[in-house]
Amino acid sequence: MRLSKYFMPILRHDPKEAEIVSHRLMLRAGMIRQESAGIYSWLPTGYRVLKKIEQIVREEQDRAGAIEVLMPTIQSADLWRKSGRYDDYGKEMLRITDRHERDMLYGPTNEEMITDIFRAGVQSYKDLPRNLYHIQWKFRDEIRPRFGVMRGREFLMKDAYSFDVSAEAGRHSYNIMFLAYLRTYQRMGLTAIPMQADTGPIGGDMSHEFLVLADTGESEVFFDSKYLEMDWQNVSIDQDDEGALSDAIQGFTSHYAATDEKHEAAAFDAIPADRKITGRGIEVGHIFFFGTKYSEPLECVVQGPDGKMVPVHSGSYGIGVSRLVAGIIEASHDENGIIWPDPVAPFNVGIINLKSGDADTDAACERVYSALTNAGMDVLYDDTDERAGAKFATMDLIGLPRQLVIGPRGLKEGQVELKHRKSGEKQSVSLDEAINQLTA
Ligand code: ATP
Ligand code: MG
Repeated sequence: MRLSKYFMPILRHDPKEAEIVSHRLMLRAGMIRQESAGIYSWLPTGYRVLKKIEQIVREEQDRAGAIEVLMPTIQSADLWRKSGRYDDYGKEMLRITDRHERDMLYGPTNEEMITDIFRAGVQSYKDLPRNLYHIQWKFRDEIRPRFGVMRGREFLMKDAYSFDVSAEAGRHSYNIMFLAYLRTYQRMGLTAIPMQADTGPIGGDMSHEFLVLADTGESEVFFDSKYLEMDWQNVSIDQDDEGALSDAIQGFTSHYAATDEKHEAAAFDAIPADRKITGRGIEVGHIFFFGTKYSEPLECVVQGPDGKMVPVHSGSYGIGVSRLVAGIIEASHDENGIIWPDPVAPFNVGIINLKSGDADTDAACERVYSALTNAGMDVLYDDTDERAGAKFATMDLIGLPRQLVIGPRGLKEGQVELKHRKSGEKQSVSLDEAINQLTA
């Protein structure tokens, strides 16, 4: 992408409405624009990141054996009346009436609809287990939308739903998703700690929230420092090996970790003092096993091995896709701007032309631009005639992992400058060496 032909409305000054760093940087980098409270347009750079995150989530759901569908944003109230949640959900649900006076709603989640879809499509325990997911916009009329896309009213969520013949089988499905979550966050360069969450009336230990540590997080967290030593990179477990998977998940949840909602002071106090950590975190995912809570009222039953009809056992598994954009920035930035982990960066490389219009500099930039683009990389080429200082500031602000600075002075010596955004390290290399390194 050539910056002269792109749309990236950069703000030179801090917007005063932004209270936290991710919101400020997303507005400054021209990633989003607020349309009304908690409702945003995704501008090109923001949308690129959103799509990259969405794709990682999708690939890890697929790898876990989940099957993608797409349900509508607008739902009929009928199913929600059957499950009893139409009244329970309260003011967070945006209720709409169509021209025929039918009660509709903008979906805040999809348990009812997916259970109804599943009910209509399976008859026998032989069709189980299954896990269906979609990545779709949700609307919750939050009482206090704030912090940009961190707590929006309209937001993008991945929600998956598992269906099993028994609670025991359901546990394995839960564990598979648990593993998929660890892999998903790890691929985005994040450490998200699984913490015990409320299971409501079902009880048991089958609900976890995944939290990214950040001072600006909305949840207060209490955990054992052992979590900071865990090897989240090395989760090479065979998900079909029920026992091994169960042991691994046991390992990942064996120490104390809870948010304020589930915190038990006595259990926390039992941890050696030097291992007790209190801080804040951002909830980027929540998984939940709820058994037959929806299958019973919605009559989602299958024929069991003994011929009797049994309600299916389900869980639901959410990831805040749009919240993750902000969450990653909270976890990865410095005073100059965003520092994108490569897998979610809007562009992998930024090329800065220090003297647009200079024939040699233009030619060198064009050469590297096509070499990198041909190698399948996402490249942003700053070919504008802004001054150098402003170009450097913009590149740092938008946080591309690597920058290539090309100017007439360096070129005379056959050199260009390669900069690593995260470490700040700069290297003078030949154009060919730069291309080799970037495409390696
Ligand atoms: P929270 O406690 O933050 O309000 P929740 O527990 O109501 O979230 P879930 O129903 O578990 O949310 O939704 C799954 C995921 O969707 C959450 O883990 C979070 O990452 C994301 N999410 C929920 N609400 C919002 C929101 N208002 N804006 C952006 N993302 C959200
Ligand atoms: Mg939650």
